[in-house]
Amino acid sequence: MKPSKPKPKAASAPIRITIPCLSPPVSHQISRLVKNKANIDVTFSNNKTIKTLLHANGRGTSCSTPKPRGCVYQILCGCGDTYIGETLRPLRLKEHRASVNKLDLISAVSEHISKNQDHAIIWEATKALSVNNSNWRQRKLQEAIDIRRSRPAINCDQGTHLPSAWDLIILE
Ligand SMILES: [Zn+2]
Repeated sequence: MKPSKPKPKAASAPIRITIPCLSPPVSHQISRLVKNKANIDVTFSNNKTIKTLLHANGRGTSCSTPKPRGCVYQILCGCGDTYIGETLRPLRLKEHRASVNKLDLISAVSEHISKNQDHAIIWEATKALSVNNSNWRQRKLQEAIDIRRSRPAINCDQGTHLPSAWDLIILE
């Protein structure tokens, strides 16, 4: 009897990401799509479904155990331009305000105001697009999804790279 040859293993992709899971057929479609288009291995985590990320409506997610750490937020300028950022703390407005007041170029928001000194940030209009997300990867993913969706003009940084194949579900 011949020794059986080891089955050829699929070449493993150089990049691996973990995203929140959704129902099995859809998870499978996405992982195949991302693997084929971008050669990225996708693994799925269980604690938050991608549905909760994609359907975030700006009202925040209800959470039985209040854990107000980690949010994705949107800042609005009087000209209508917006900025989307994320932070582990509830909101990073203090730093943004200080940097706008000093007109330093540390943040994209202060850069916007320093270039357009007749503009003013409407701080009261700042809103949390999602809250209670203390997981850094999930928050970065959520931020990138929100940026891809609303294309905020003030952001210089487009956040974590998302394969363009994801637009199919992000921009639905
Ligand atoms: Zn402006």
